[in-house]
Amino acid sequence: MQDYDVLVAGAGIAGSTAAAMAGKMGSRVLLLDRNKETEPGKKTLWGWVCGDAVAKSHIEFVRKNLGNIFTGDDLGLPVDGVMALSPDLQYKLPFDGEGYSLERPIFGATLFNAAIKNNVEFRGGFSIEAPIVEEGFVKGVVGKNSKGEEEKIRAKVVVDALGISSLLRRKLPENPYIDREIDYEDLELTGRFIYKIEDYENDLKYYDPKYALIHLNQNMAPGGYGWVFPKKDGRVNVGLGVQHKSLELRNAKFGEKDNLKSLIDKYVKWNRTFKKYSLDDSFRNGEGYWSVSVRRQMEGMVFPGYIGAGDSMASPNPLSAGGIGPALIGGILAGKKAAECRDYSKCGLDELWSYNVDYNKQYGSKMAGMEVFRTFLQSMTNEDIDYGMKNFITYEEAVEITYGRIPELSLTSKIGKVMKGMKNVKTFKSLVWTVDTMKQLNRIYDGYPTTPGEFPQFKAKIQSIVNDAKERLPPNPV
Ligand SMILES: Cc1cc2nc3c(=O)[nH]c(=O)nc-3n(C[C@H](O)[C@H](O)[C@H](O)COP(=O)(O)OP(=O)(O)OC[C@H]3O[C@@H](n4cnc5c(N)ncnc54)[C@H](O)[C@@H]3O)c2cc1C
Repeated sequence: MQDYDVLVAGAGIAGSTAAAMAGKMGSRVLLLDRNKETEPGKKTLWGWVCGDAVAKSHIEFVRKNLGNIFTGDDLGLPVDGVMALSPDLQYKLPFDGEGYSLERPIFGATLFNAAIKNNVEFRGGFSIEAPIVEEGFVKGVVGKNSKGEEEKIRAKVVVDALGISSLLRRKLPENPYIDREIDYEDLELTGRFIYKIEDYENDLKYYDPKYALIHLNQNMAPGGYGWVFPKKDGRVNVGLGVQHKSLELRNAKFGEKDNLKSLIDKYVKWNRTFKKYSLDDSFRNGEGYWSVSVRRQMEGMVFPGYIGAGDSMASPNPLSAGGIGPALIGGILAGKKAAECRDYSKCGLDELWSYNVDYNKQYGSKMAGMEVFRTFLQSMTNEDIDYGMKNFITYEEAVEITYGRIPELSLTSKIGKVMKGMKNVKTFKSLVWTVDTMKQLNRIYDGYPTTPGEFPQFKAKIQSIVNDAKERLPPNPV
């Protein structure tokens, strides 16, 4: 039995960042992971499974709070932005601005080393099984140490950074703040390969050395998208995410039996620019599969004695599935908040609550709206998306939407462009409804509750609007 100020569970992106921040602020921090210290941030046996793309602004946020911890090797290749292409490849719309295509294992090590430099104690080979909960308070964790023995470790506050399938979140007592499970249809089943491209044909619709490309296509990637992200030294990160229900509908319609793996294989073959390529299996990280959540982050992310950050709180952006940025932001803010818990009396719900407010202000407040936009996209066929990208949304409006800001779209100003029959009118009306709903959600989030007492009403309102959107716009990929 040992006592720490802060116990950070999980030494991935969110966890290492939170530990580094709390350590910097003078707390006695223990960082726990099932991985050894030689493999920080490895998600599963498959490696550091990720598309590796992150916006520059998120890296700047870390620099502002932890100093310039990056070496350059970790940030990999700078990219000018992300481009989404329509299924017919005729239209390109920008997503996110400048960023990096990271060298993920090195990036994980940089964050981990920042924690160690800030006097954080690390224990690897420790498999966390559950929170210790006493009198409605999380007081530490229980798990198996590297010898396979059960061990309890206590701290004044626990930061849950165990990723999407967190056993801490899932084993919290039933509570009104944090959903313990993530709905299956709010997950993208994803996989990716890292290839060294030895010979390619120049066609910027398929591969662009300066831009991270996203291919929207409900046949190739039902309910999700495919991606080709350039990396340093002529390599690429090629992957695909699908929604389970959309894949089922698409397979049923075409009498196919595709699964995630077969879809990725087909997607790589479809990319006609790749003439000669080979797997880059450095760090044994060349091929991997895992899930990303694409719902809004948990409406509340604290519980007495407990703060959640990163994928454990479903924080990836529901539209892009980008979770590195929100994990970095959540990590910094969770580390700061945890460091304020100098004794148990300061780690209750009321004291931790401002973390929710800070996170929503910094990043989270637009995510419920993004979830509704994702639901809208999943309800469209390839033809709808082609037509919509050509006629409904201008370049500027697309930029606004992907930043979570809502453009001024009005039926009256645009209806003149919708000429190709009833189906397009219906899709356009759905778009207008979606944009109005996003505005409504953003307004509600602007008034995020400043105390737990106001929270149940807030959460009920958000849930009812999002559920209504899902009923109105069911998956309809083909
Ligand atoms: C295929 C794919 C592509 C993606 N592409 C992108 C992208 O291009 N850009 C982007 O921004 N995001 C992307 N994401 C999402 C991004 O990878 C995650 O959001 C990010 O890794 C979240 O970091 P995290 O620290 O919260 O969790 P994780 O990275 O999952 O870290 C969790 C840590 O907890 C440890 N852990 C888990 N359970 C236990 C346990 N029981 N005991 C002890 N330790 C445990 C793990 O070992 C790990 O170190 C992608 C995800 C996938 C799957």
